[in-house]
Amino acid sequence: MGEPQPSDFQLAESEVAAPDDGEVVVRNTYMSVDPYMRGRMNDVPSYVPPWQLGQVCEGAAVGEVVASRNDRLAEGDTVLHQLGWREYAKLGRGVQKVDVDGISPSAYLGVLGMPGLTAYAGLLDIAALKDGDVVFVSGAAGAVGSLAGQIAKLRGHTVVGSAGSAAKIAWVTDELGFDAAFDYHDGVRDGLKRVAPDGIDVYFDNVGGEHLEAAISSLKVHGRVALCGAISGYNATEPEPWPRNMALAIGKRLTLRGFIILDHFDRMPAFLAEVAPSVRDGRIKYRETVVEGGVEAAPQALIDLLRGANTGKMVVKL
Ligand code: NDP
Repeated sequence: MGEPQPSDFQLAESEVAAPDDGEVVVRNTYMSVDPYMRGRMNDVPSYVPPWQLGQVCEGAAVGEVVASRNDRLAEGDTVLHQLGWREYAKLGRGVQKVDVDGISPSAYLGVLGMPGLTAYAGLLDIAALKDGDVVFVSGAAGAVGSLAGQIAKLRGHTVVGSAGSAAKIAWVTDELGFDAAFDYHDGVRDGLKRVAPDGIDVYFDNVGGEHLEAAISSLKVHGRVALCGAISGYNATEPEPWPRNMALAIGKRLTLRGFIILDHFDRMPAFLAEVAPSVRDGRIKYRETVVEGGVEAAPQALIDLLRGANTGKMVVKL
């Protein structure tokens, strides 16, 4: 419960063994820091098991193969895996070669990875985006939100967003092309009314809580919500009271649909086919907040992510 503390984490050293038959050893270059990791610090049943005491914090990482006894992978290949916050990973399964021609390997942790796919599937499949929809994206300057807004813009939609600072608002409106955005610290309901006075058709929810309540009020009849995340409550010590206006969903015939991206990896080829070319030619823009300092910097990066220190994808560089 509450905000994670550096003392919740421990740095440990162990020997890296040589690869067994079919395995590689990977030297990590970037490690992902994601909001869902906060959930893995709670000892409760969930869609992924909690991190185990004394075990490495699992998660996405990219790195370079430094030793290989796997026919498909050679020394020097750049790969993505899920063994998380460590300098070296020895593994045979769950390792995937990635194409880093003209792009940083870290992109596979963000815009071309799980968060990118989340934006794509959440918007197109869960919220069932259709022509003419006015779209509201919260967490608009984050990894998922910044891409969700841009995908909707490229498809010709009016897109409004919310984020936590003036600099983030400037980025999403001036560089990413959002039609308007507001700083939620100045009031969520009023901010949303200001940027979307005629209401919204789709809400891509990264935040939950008060944002979800404001969106329910603002949604038009037959509006749709992709319930992606509820980060405003991840560090909460008490259940949040919002949304208090759920009954409006009945009269407005709203659809509120939660999803977990693990169920939607079959959409990866379609996602990469549509989004990767636009990332490479610059039509889709992305930022990364790169924390230097190696494995020991990861816990503070997670604490800072939950405080909003990142613009775009939060990664740790080794
Ligand atoms: P982000 O890059 O968006 O980073 C998290 C951001 O959340 C922070 O930068 C901060 O930005 C914002 N935030 C923190 N506290 C609050 C608050 N109280 N109110 C509003 N915003 C807050 O992370 P991701 O893009 O990786 O993830 C975005 C959301 O999507 C998360 O909720 C995450 O759990 C969810 N998610 C869900 C998946 C699924 O399968 N359903 C898969 C991947 C992500 P700011 O400065 O704007 O406050």
